[in-house]
Amino acid sequence: DGVREMLASRIHDVPDYPKPGVMFKDITPLLADPEAFSALTDVLADICAAYGATKVVGLEARGFILAAPAAVRAGVGFVPVRKAGKLPGATLSQAYDLEYGSAEIEVHAEDLTGSDRVLVIDDVLATGGTAEASLRLIRRAGAEIAGVAMLLELGFLGGRKRLESALDGAPMESL
Ligand code: IMP
Repeated sequence: DGVREMLASRIHDVPDYPKPGVMFKDITPLLADPEAFSALTDVLADICAAYGATKVVGLEARGFILAAPAAVRAGVGFVPVRKAGKLPGATLSQAYDLEYGSAEIEVHAEDLTGSDRVLVIDDVLATGGTAEASLRLIRRAGAEIAGVAMLLELGFLGGRKRLESALDGAPMESL
């Protein structure tokens, strides 16, 4: 619809970033436009309510920017999933494979409980590795997955397929 087209028009393609051959999707023009950012926040807060989520998890770093205002607007708590070594309290961690090497993400164990239903938000679903690891991490923390919402999905990378088993029937939406 019109909102999605407006949002899409505020995401810019940057060729050969961060390396030759990659077309980077830059969301900063959308964030700089108060109407677009507010409309995106409304859409994400509506998804949060529709999925019956009790917490919103944002994935470092651009996921934080989208998830935090959506959580506030939906009236639920915000929980950051961070790169390893950034959280001061007792954490759970989850390693996952990258194209070259591996990475690790963490969450504060006490921020999620067995009665939480979690909506995971990030800016871009690429290979799906980051989102998949976050779903496994959230389940290990004892919470239920309400669903995943992404601003953008790079369909040709097959992230949706990679997420399937970790979603275990929960919905995944990209705008
Ligand atoms: P994945 O784990 O391969 O799905 O990569 C997803 C992560 O990489 C997300 O946290 C994104 O923020 C980031 N990412 C990958 N491609 C892009 C892009 O074109 N623009 C912005 N972020 C991207």
